[in-house]
Amino acid sequence: MLNAVERTSEIACAAVTSILDKTVAAYPGRPAMDFLGRHTSYAELGRLVAHAACGFQQLGVRKGTRVGLCLPNTPYYVICYFAVLRLGGIVVNFNPLYVEREMRHQIEDSGTTIMVTLDIRQIYPKVAAALKDTCLERIVVCPMSGILTSMKSVLFSVFKRSEVAEIPDDLRHVTFERLIANDGVVQAAAIDPLNDVAVLQYTGGTTGVPKGAMLTHGNLTANVDQLYRWVPASQPGYERMMLVLPLFHVFAMTVGMNLGIAFGAELILLPRFELDQVMKYITKKRPTMFPGVPTIYTALIAAAEKGHEDLSSIKVCISGGAPLPLEVRNRFEALTGCRLVEGYGLSETSPVATCNPLDSGGKAGSVGLPLAGTTIEVRSPQNPSHVLPAGEKGEIYVRGPQVMAGYWRKPQETAAVMDEDALRTGDVGYIDEEGYVFLVDRLKDVILCGGYNVYPRVVEEAIYQHPAVAEVVVIGVPDPYRGQAPKAFVRLRDGHNATVAELKEFLGEHLSRIEMPKAIELRRELPRTMVGKLSKKELVAEEQAAHGGGA
Ligand code: AMP
Repeated sequence: MLNAVERTSEIACAAVTSILDKTVAAYPGRPAMDFLGRHTSYAELGRLVAHAACGFQQLGVRKGTRVGLCLPNTPYYVICYFAVLRLGGIVVNFNPLYVEREMRHQIEDSGTTIMVTLDIRQIYPKVAAALKDTCLERIVVCPMSGILTSMKSVLFSVFKRSEVAEIPDDLRHVTFERLIANDGVVQAAAIDPLNDVAVLQYTGGTTGVPKGAMLTHGNLTANVDQLYRWVPASQPGYERMMLVLPLFHVFAMTVGMNLGIAFGAELILLPRFELDQVMKYITKKRPTMFPGVPTIYTALIAAAEKGHEDLSSIKVCISGGAPLPLEVRNRFEALTGCRLVEGYGLSETSPVATCNPLDSGGKAGSVGLPLAGTTIEVRSPQNPSHVLPAGEKGEIYVRGPQVMAGYWRKPQETAAVMDEDALRTGDVGYIDEEGYVFLVDRLKDVILCGGYNVYPRVVEEAIYQHPAVAEVVVIGVPDPYRGQAPKAFVRLRDGHNATVAELKEFLGEHLSRIEMPKAIELRRELPRTMVGKLSKKELVAEEQAAHGGGA
């Protein structure tokens, strides 16, 4: 409920490392991380961060130095993140699945001079290639075997030797071991939280050239404070946070790692999403919090429906990043007995702007209420200075202490999305009389159909109501009569059957004629973005290629 959230006191605005420092002081003996069975306490994490910070200082990191983290979820990420921030350095998040070209572009654009990565063949060579012809000067190489339990480490070195990359022994490479071989005494930089950038979070990959959203220390600590107030009945020092979403993504970085640390929670880090392993871990490690994207919850439902695993430890699930179909939420809650609430945000808002209340669960189909200190406005797309009344659809703008400082070295792109302190999101939605925010779609995804706006999200929600449907993506395709028309790509649930004709008949009762997909295609798999959200880009490109023009 709205009044359960403390909204009156000032939202935090501090150095990001203060989140870790407070927890290390309050819960030194509590577990901070569990990585494939290897445990690290908060006191140990604090020590490792101090030594790594000292090592980075010796490598020349100071205020403003951009240090890339190109790591899957491992303790190295957590340690290096806080070590760089302690010196006033800027963390640049890199997706380890980037191809060489993407890696190179982000290194050059951000001016990353030091990169931290793992010594495995899937990642290291792509980073090393950039040493030749970009501004990258040094690589800190973290050994995979160094973070496994001794037993797993032996197994890894025997069976996975072929996966380990060869690392040259030269001045441009520093091992993690060498990085932390010092006395750990370091002068922390003086941070101006309102203005000092902590993280460059690249975004816009699905729409165009990626841009680095500048998230300040104040932005990130504000969002953690806003979320801390949002989650009632938490038990600081005793929560366990399941982290399968990648930490290089802003959602996992804030809602998983930083919020988890603020709670004094144990971070259960998994380097990749493998359903069997995740289910096993839930039973064994009994996490209490589990942030995810809708596709993860869909997968958990499929596994839980088979009925062998005990998911009852989980108390809180926050879904974000993409629409959470009502059916998925209802099925997940019915199966697990745990609360699954949907939030909304962007890389540019650190990321959370709104969330459904955890105690009541909020409103079906809504992305919830603005967090404390956050204002959501719906403005007319034709006349952006006009704020629309409740119930009317328009473009969503966000104001609040979590809104970015702008895009890194891109004043024009910044000016295009910032109206003074309000961020233009590119999302269409409305606010109801009680202040709940409803998203309709992304402005760029709206299908212009014979003079009407058709929102793919509305069509997708209708298709999700069919019991055989697991996942669906709707896009606009060229239509000689209407200009554009909706087309649906559907993946059926395992063990279920439905023909296109049956789906169409079902939809006849749920959609208007204009919203009815002109085609429905059944697929075994649907494309996803690198963080696992369903992705439209590939399907739009396929349709463009098939029709020889703009979809
Ligand atoms: P990114 O910055 O890559 O995380 O993407 C942000 C975009 O994800 C937003 O502008 C929305 O279009 C979309 N998004 C985030 N949360 C939700 C949600 N709960 N429902 C629908 N779309 C969402």
